[in-house]
Amino acid sequence: MQSFSTAKDAALHLRPDEPVYCFRPEVLKADAKAFVDAFPGETAYAVKTNGEPLVLETLAKAGMRIFDVASPGEFAAVKAARPDAEMLYMHPVKAQSDIRLALETYGIRVLALDHEDEVAKVLRIVRALDLDPGTLTIFVRLQTKGHAMYELSKKFGAAPAHAVELLQRCHRIGFKVGICFHVGSQIEDPDTYERALASADWVRNRADVPLAGLDVGGGFPAEYGHDPRRKKPDMPGFPEIMTQLRSDLDEWGFSDIPLVAEPGRVIVARCFSLIVRVLLRKGKRLYINDGIWSSLSDSWTGKITLPARFIPDPARTHRNGNPDRIESFKVCGATCDSVDILSRPFWLPETVDTGDWIEIGHIGAYSLSLRTRFNGFYPDTFVEVTTPFDEGEAAEGYASLETMAD
Ligand SMILES: *Cc1c(COP(=O)(O)O)cnc(C)c1O
Repeated sequence: MQSFSTAKDAALHLRPDEPVYCFRPEVLKADAKAFVDAFPGETAYAVKTNGEPLVLETLAKAGMRIFDVASPGEFAAVKAARPDAEMLYMHPVKAQSDIRLALETYGIRVLALDHEDEVAKVLRIVRALDLDPGTLTIFVRLQTKGHAMYELSKKFGAAPAHAVELLQRCHRIGFKVGICFHVGSQIEDPDTYERALASADWVRNRADVPLAGLDVGGGFPAEYGHDPRRKKPDMPGFPEIMTQLRSDLDEWGFSDIPLVAEPGRVIVARCFSLIVRVLLRKGKRLYINDGIWSSLSDSWTGKITLPARFIPDPARTHRNGNPDRIESFKVCGATCDSVDILSRPFWLPETVDTGDWIEIGHIGAYSLSLRTRFNGFYPDTFVEVTTPFDEGEAAEGYASLETMAD
């Protein structure tokens, strides 16, 4: 892989017409380490956030040994990156054949569920393989209420009374049992974990069975951009959120049982940026060579303002406008689909024009993992970049205040 100091160097050297992913392995290692050091339990990286081999291999090298997986494709990807990895199969709704594959071929012994029919599926395979149920840990997924960009409890999780019943049922069978939840991705309220812990405490007390673990899921937010004309959203940074979570865990009496977290976004967001090219400027609209069917679908559905840095094409000799004036531009994606328009603008100098490049920062989570081949576009070019996105020249429309490594 070619290596450059900055994405700007890469853009000016390669003059790419296709999107280019700029990978920063040192940033990935630092952010993984920051999480592992701060969380008072085991850290299992959520593979769906970014399952690229180079990401999994870099994490493995940085010491990540536990991975949260959801499908045979993810089992295989983790195994290839780290043969001795431990995998937690935390998808609550699984195919019978996938459960068999997990238990028989991959030796997975930790699973999540939120319904008694799923207990029956797991038990069927345990019996067929003649396994001792006591070698398996079943996490019962609890519904939560909170504020996040993505509310996962609309889809998964047992209501508290149902969770009590499931814990007791699994315990009676002889499984070890735990409680897990996922408060939603990119939480927008730091009290979200505390509400989930209060609910987990209620369930624990009613169930009255020995707990083998508590899994607090993911949800830890990454830092993105914001409208520069408005106040920066009032969300604490990662260190504060973790400090609060630690004290909430203490307060609710969960500190003395084994803890697990399944972070995705907060581990990989910063380690990629993406160079895109302006294919056409039409008034206040920019048509770029990526979009919601490639790397930008998470920002579209999550209404995330992406931090964008202007990389002017030096070959353009004439420009209109004031280079110091930052304007919002509507961003249209590469495909012919009319919904392929970002839900939030890019903030860029008024002078941006056809042929220029834009570096989109903090784009490592739910970007390349969600690429489709729709309309024949499939970005797949990678370079390595050594300087973190938030170092050096500030990106337009993006005030970097705290970062995880601080
Ligand atoms: C998606 C997911 C995660 C990761 O969530 P982030 O918000 O990216 O940290 C963790 N656990 C489960 C079960 C998930 O589905």
